[in-house]
Amino acid sequence: MFKNQVIERITKEFGSPSRETVKVTAWDVGDNLGVVVQTDQPNKGDQAFVWLPYPPDSESLPEIALEYAAESGRHSNTYPSPGLERGRPALKLIVTSDEEMNDLIAYIKAFKEFRPLPDLKANPSTEISSELDANDSMIRVDTAAMPSPKPIKPRREAIPRAVQREVWQRDGGRCVECNSKAKLCFDHIVPFSKGGSNTVRNLQLLCERCNLSKGNRI
Ligand SMILES: [Zn+2]
Repeated sequence: MFKNQVIERITKEFGSPSRETVKVTAWDVGDNLGVVVQTDQPNKGDQAFVWLPYPPDSESLPEIALEYAAESGRHSNTYPSPGLERGRPALKLIVTSDEEMNDLIAYIKAFKEFRPLPDLKANPSTEISSELDANDSMIRVDTAAMPSPKPIKPRREAIPRAVQREVWQRDGGRCVECNSKAKLCFDHIVPFSKGGSNTVRNLQLLCERCNLSKGNRI
C-alpha cells in the first residue's frame, strides 16, 4: 500500500510518529505543524491521504491539496494535531507517486523551518503515454529561435482567511451542489490552472465528494 510507503518515508525524515491509531498515523513535526496520514482510507493501494495545517496567506499551495474550510476542517476530533485543531482550515493532500512524496517532504521541511513553501505539482505515477514520438510528419520547433516560454501554470496560493470566511457565509456552510454540511472544501469555479483566482466570486463551497467528482470531469 502506497500509504505505508509514505508513513515509512515521513518516519525516516521526521522520526517516530507521536500517535498511531486505527485511523491515523501522526507526527508533531514542529510548532503548529502536525502531519497526519490517514490509515483508515483510502482503500485503493496507490494513494495516500496526508493532512497538513493550512499555510499562511499567499504561501504556495500544493496542486494535490483539497482545501478544507475552518468550520469543516480537521480529520480527527478526538486527538487534534498541532495546527489541525477545531476551527482551523486544513489541507488534505492526495499523494499518488514517488515524485509527489518527495515534493511533500520538501514542502513539510520548508513549513517547519518557516521558509517560503515550494511548489508541489501534481505528478501522477500513471503518465498518459505520448504518441508524439512515433509521428515523423511533425515539424520540429527551432527552440533556439523562440522566446523563452511564459510559465503555463500560475502558482497556486493560499486563500486569504477573510475570503474563506466570506465564501463560507455566502454559501451558508453547505455544499452548493448537494447541500451536505460534511467535509466542506473550497473549490475554484474557474480552476487555478486555467487562470482562476482566489476571489470570493471565483470560490464556492463543495463537499469532498462533489469536489473530487468535479475534478474528474475536467
Ligand atoms: Zn456535495
